[in-house]
Amino acid sequence: MLYTNDVVYRPPPEQNSVLLEIATGCSYGKCDFCRYSTGEEELCLIPPDVIRKNIYILSQAYPGRERMFLLGGNVLAFKTDFLSQLFQEIKLYFPSIRTISMYARAKDVLNKSFDQLFSLRELGMDTLYIGIESGSDRILKIHNKGINSAEMLAALMKLDKLGIPYGLSFIIGLGGKGSYYENATESSNFINKTYPQSIRLMTLTVFTGTVLERKVELGDFVLQDEYESLLEEEILIKNLELDAEDTLFVANHVSNRVPLLGLLPRDKARILKELRTEIDSYNLGEGNGQNIADENHW
Ligand code: SF4
Repeated sequence: MLYTNDVVYRPPPEQNSVLLEIATGCSYGKCDFCRYSTGEEELCLIPPDVIRKNIYILSQAYPGRERMFLLGGNVLAFKTDFLSQLFQEIKLYFPSIRTISMYARAKDVLNKSFDQLFSLRELGMDTLYIGIESGSDRILKIHNKGINSAEMLAALMKLDKLGIPYGLSFIIGLGGKGSYYENATESSNFINKTYPQSIRLMTLTVFTGTVLERKVELGDFVLQDEYESLLEEEILIKNLELDAEDTLFVANHVSNRVPLLGLLPRDKARILKELRTEIDSYNLGEGNGQNIADENHW
């Protein structure tokens, strides 16, 4: 069996990558909206002999593939020696692989030295996908993200200096009712200080068993409605001033009311127009309801 769970999670830009499971769970597991906050899935390494066997199986199934994505909540949390050895074994058993990407926490980046990150980059480490979630420290704190925006910015600057690409994800609605402007502006201000390869927007969903679900039930957190989410998305995109050309913008997750996809800044006007059309139709009375979704939709 190649994967522990029926559903595997990988970022949209990695849709053509070979998926190798390294771990299940996340080393932090305390963000209250995350499925890992249920406490049922702590970070757990797949046994090395199983990983080795799976690298070989994947090399036979996907000969010639050049890109691999490592499955696991934040694989970069593992020790540099372990990751170095892993990357070398991947190259040994699957020699066509050139680049290896993975999810990471910004803290994982900060916990590694320049030399450690440099050596991993030299062994093929490529895009790190980092959940920023919000540029607002107040909102990050509410949800127990365990890191503030300045620390996350420091981690990204470290990656910029090393030439390690990164993709960033944000959660629309994370501030709750009445906070759409704050979340939009603080997040876009944050993005404008960075050089992401991709930006991904998802809308907040409440998963069964999470700490957030309890907060919502108790009335300690009030979800914003779809209209506020649409406005938040519009403000965030309008405020973006990206230096880099061709930043992939992905907001077509099932949680998003309008599927949006394109390259920024090139497609900004078209994306905003699509969003505005939806907002106007909402104003005409077509929208309703809140966004409590089942967990298969993350
Ligand atoms: S959101 Fe990311 S860092 Fe937070 S618990 Fe989930 S996987 Fe871990």
